[in-house]
Parts: sequence; C-alpha cells; structure tokens
Amino acid sequence: MSILKQKTLSKPIEFKGVGLHTGEKVKMKIFPSAPNSGIAFKRIDLKYNNLVIPNVYNVVNATLCTTISNEFGVKVSTIEHLMAAMYVLGLDNALIELDSQEVPIMDGSAKNFVDMIMATEFEVSDIPLKFIKMEKSVSIYKDSKFIKIDKSNITLDIDFEIKYKNPLIGTQQNKVSVYQDDLTDTLNSRTFCLYEDIAKLRKAGFAKGGSLDNAIVVKDKEILNDEGLRNDLEFVNHKILDCIGDIYLSGYKLIGSIKCSQGGHSLTNELLREVFKDKSNFSIFELKEKSLPHSFINKPLLKSIA
Ligand SMILES: [Zn+2]
Repeated sequence: MSILKQKTLSKPIEFKGVGLHTGEKVKMKIFPSAPNSGIAFKRIDLKYNNLVIPNVYNVVNATLCTTISNEFGVKVSTIEHLMAAMYVLGLDNALIELDSQEVPIMDGSAKNFVDMIMATEFEVSDIPLKFIKMEKSVSIYKDSKFIKIDKSNITLDIDFEIKYKNPLIGTQQNKVSVYQDDLTDTLNSRTFCLYEDIAKLRKAGFAKGGSLDNAIVVKDKEILNDEGLRNDLEFVNHKILDCIGDIYLSGYKLIGSIKCSQGGHSLTNELLREVFKDKSNFSIFELKEKSLPHSFINKPLLKSIA
C-alpha cells in the first residue's frame, strides 16, 4: 500500500452531539467519497442548495470558530477540529452529512473524531496525493499579532505563541512538526474560554452549547473543570489544532513552516488568501515515491500522510 495515495473511509461513521455555539443537537455522518473530490459538507436538514465546500474563500466568519457558507448563504460552522482530525489522519476525501448548521463539539478537542476515524479502515485509491509547497514567504502583521509562512523541505511546522493577561494561561509557546511528531497532545487539547467572557458570549448568541464537558473554563488562577488540564500546554496546543484544521481549507497537504503569535481562525484564513493571491508564492505537485528524498522511506514518519 502506498502511503502517498489518496484515502477515504471504507464505511460511514456517525457522531451525535451538540453545537458549541448553536446549542442544537446534531447528527453527523462521514461517508467515503471518490478520489479528488476532497472534503464536502451536506446539510441534510435542508432540501436544496445544501452542499457546502470548505475552501479558503468560503469562510464567512472566523471570529470564534470557522464558519463556511455556499453561494446560497447555507452555512456549516465550527468545522476546524474535525478538519484537523482528517488532515492529521490523512483522510483526503469524505462527504460529511449533518442535520444542523454546526459540527458537534464533542469534548472540545479532536479526540472523538480521531478515535472513530482511526477505528475505521481506510480505502486507498490509485490517485496520488497533492501538495501545496510554499516557494516564498508570506506574512500578515496586525498590531502585536502576526502569522507568517516560509518554505520548508518536506515538513509542515507550526510554531505558535499565545499571550493572555490571565495569569494561569499567560504566555505559552509550542512548535510541532505535523507529519513527524506524535500529535496526541495537540489532538486532545480542548477549546477554552475565560469565565468572565461566558456571559458576554451568551448575550451575543454564542456558546449556547458550551459546558465544562466541552471547554476548559478559566477563572482567574483556577481551572473550573474537575479533571484539570490534559497536558501542560493545552491552551497553545489547542490553537495549533485550530491552525491545522484551518489550513486544511487550502484543499491539499501543505509543505511550509508557519510561525504565529496570538493568531486564530481569521488570521490563518487571511494568510491563506494572501498566499493564493500570487501564483509564484507556491506550487502544487504530486509527491511520487520516485521523487522522495533518500531519508524519507527510512523514517517512520508522515503518519498523517499515511
Ligand atoms: Zn478550536
């Protein structure tokens, strides 16, 4: 079996849960789909115009979560943790049906998606994977925030930093190499919020499904969840998870090196739009076994591509 061919699931899998922001119950099913079809969402609660494709230009709101919309205004929101799980596990083609607007939040991380996808066999096609390889540096600076992407050899590195006034979160930084590192901590890291923001969020119509079962809540120097943190860098690790999910809206695996300080869904999307503005910023290619570097085969790496 080639690790560089496009993959899909061998059979459908189902999730039930609640939308973090809508608070609505949602059933979601991930179906296998054909090579080169990529990821597509289908709102089965609607009869018409219900296909919504996750791509860079379909992001209509990226304030609290990533929301995509089709040309008819039909939306799917909070797609980022599921997108990250599919990226990391190498699920290239899938049709995702859901009966509500929002992807279920599950436990606030990508853990449940990862567990279920990993428990299902993959079907490997004969069609090679496609990659976007950065050829130039692109960056976005906004006040004290920034995100930039440089070229890399064959890796996707994400170096992320957050700076919070809250003393418990404070400044955290972590760097992962997406195709080489063990990403368990990244994938298991939950979304988080400050206790004092909950009332504001609810008043604005968000976080209606939020609870201690699907988000870390921080009040001053205390974590309100009984079980505490899952790993020491859970806050920044979750931001890395979001970043991976948002990058998958580019449609292909990415080869580049990202550095981000205090960014989030919007900034990642702005970066990708900037990258795609100029064709000389990147190239798209199929990675064939014959063109692999000597060291490649020997490494038990590229788990996510595999
Ligand atoms: Zn998130």
